[in-house]
Amino acid sequence: MVMTRSEPDSCPGVLRLHEAADGPLARIRVPGGRLNPEQLQTLAEAARDLGDGRIELTSRGNVQLRGMRDAAALEQRLTAAGLLPSATHERVRNIIASPLSGRVGGIADVHGLVPPLDAGLRGAPRLADLPGRVLFTLDDGRGDVSGLGGDIGVHGVDGENFALLLGGADSGLRVPADAAVQLMLTAAHEFLDLREGRWRVHEIEDGPRRLADRLLLAHPGLDTTATRVETTAPQDIPIGWLTQGDDLVTLGAGVRLGSLEARVAEFVAAIERPIYLTPWRSLIITDLEEWAAEQVVRVLAPLGLIFDANSPWLQVSACAGQPGCAKSLTDVRADLAEAVETARVLPPSTPAFPRDSLLPEEVVASGRQHWSGCSRHCGRPRGPVTDVTATPTGYRIDPPES
Ligand code: SF4
Repeated sequence: MVMTRSEPDSCPGVLRLHEAADGPLARIRVPGGRLNPEQLQTLAEAARDLGDGRIELTSRGNVQLRGMRDAAALEQRLTAAGLLPSATHERVRNIIASPLSGRVGGIADVHGLVPPLDAGLRGAPRLADLPGRVLFTLDDGRGDVSGLGGDIGVHGVDGENFALLLGGADSGLRVPADAAVQLMLTAAHEFLDLREGRWRVHEIEDGPRRLADRLLLAHPGLDTTATRVETTAPQDIPIGWLTQGDDLVTLGAGVRLGSLEARVAEFVAAIERPIYLTPWRSLIITDLEEWAAEQVVRVLAPLGLIFDANSPWLQVSACAGQPGCAKSLTDVRADLAEAVETARVLPPSTPAFPRDSLLPEEVVASGRQHWSGCSRHCGRPRGPVTDVTATPTGYRIDPPES
């Protein structure tokens, strides 16, 4: 769909908090989802000391802190932890990378591209004008993040070359690994030239093709191909025990409704290993010896982290709802939690039918489902998903079209 935006985008950051119904909300960009243990500890302390005690994970692998009582103290803490390296470019650092890259599976290792891409964004004064919604994706060839609706991205096609994605689809341009970051930065500049007030590449009429044409003019040596990489939203997220190529262990940990308690985050930080936030609102804890991984599961599973890929919590998501959103008709997250705990979230194979005017305790839905406090469906994941929507007459269930 082609659309024109008349207003500037209003994405929150650390220096521009969003006035949510439950208080100021800060969104902190975490390029590539990577946090070191000290940074996770800083976030946990900020959530506990200055906010509502929880770290919200977002669908872009970023984090949000709600109910921020002291914006200046937050800025100071995040800056000291290296989580706010630029005041001018903080909202444009939206970079998702395949979380398991370089450790488990994949064709290329894309984590090494994140720091130069982030530095390149921050180093170009003009790129501070990118809308906060622009998303960069770095997919190591397994197809886990290319289907997440990025604007500018690369997708590994072999160990040395990437496909360039524009507007979430393969442009047909091919670039070697050592030129990939520069090409993405050039694409960001060209997008600014083309955008005429629009926020996303796909919102520009014929945007991906026009952008590709401009890139070919700027880089005439680029390879092109008629064979396109298909991009689809992944349905399975990495959960549980994953053996790395070097025989160490990565643990994928689900987080209930993407809301991580500060004290649980502190336990994760205390493991002292690199941590990745995923765009599926989960955690990846890396580089563990087997005995250490066993201990981590033993300690963190009782605290609510999910290491069982069959858990119904992994089928469900929800918008902020009450009390965080003034538009919400109800506390959808509490209603959804009750549905999970009383076994009303059924396996995906169960037949599903539309229903409406339901009391919270009457809602029974199967498979992937997203609960919303109104019809805007904020935070709805990509791909087939059942909508459970609060309406003035009760909940409505809309299964995905088959
Ligand atoms: S879906 Fe509606 S209720 Fe939920 S966060 Fe968005 S606007 Fe608020």
